[in-house]
Amino acid sequence: MSLIPEQTEPDDGEDGEDLSSFSAPFHILRCLTGCWRCGQACKVTAITGMYQPTAEELGWDPDDTETVWDYDYSNDIPTEPSYLSSIRSLPEELLAPLLKLNPDFAMADGGYHNFCRCGARFGEFYLFNEPEGTFAPMEEDHFRAIEVYPLEVQGTFQIDCLSGAGLMGEIIEKGKPMALPE
Ligand SMILES: [Zn+2]
Repeated sequence: MSLIPEQTEPDDGEDGEDLSSFSAPFHILRCLTGCWRCGQACKVTAITGMYQPTAEELGWDPDDTETVWDYDYSNDIPTEPSYLSSIRSLPEELLAPLLKLNPDFAMADGGYHNFCRCGARFGEFYLFNEPEGTFAPMEEDHFRAIEVYPLEVQGTFQIDCLSGAGLMGEIIEKGKPMALPE
């Protein structure tokens, strides 16, 4: 029998799921970018939440019950705004506003992706990891060009996706504050 609080157990889902835990506040980021194939300007989106690291990632030994058990970890888990990547499913509370802001965000090959109206798919490396990528700004003007929509949804979700921190905290701070359309 494990004495570890449930939240710190490794998040291995069923059937090859890769569950990551994210808590509010959630934000949707939206920015114009040129399509790599047809060149037209497209609005692409990202979703961010506060990533909750697993006990393993925190370097906690699940067998070391002396330090883990009875430890009120809930207030000092290091957590930072992170983007959801390789998204294979999304709770409706997050998916609905995302589709409202980007009708071209769609499921293909088992995962959600940004698409241009011409059908070209935007890779996540291009969006998040390449310097000066859409959500990897290097100039102040680029930060300010990214629209930031706070979501009202509260709580913590186990989501079948991966996560990356990148510059999400800085984008949320410096981006253009927006409100979700009715
Ligand atoms: Zn295109």
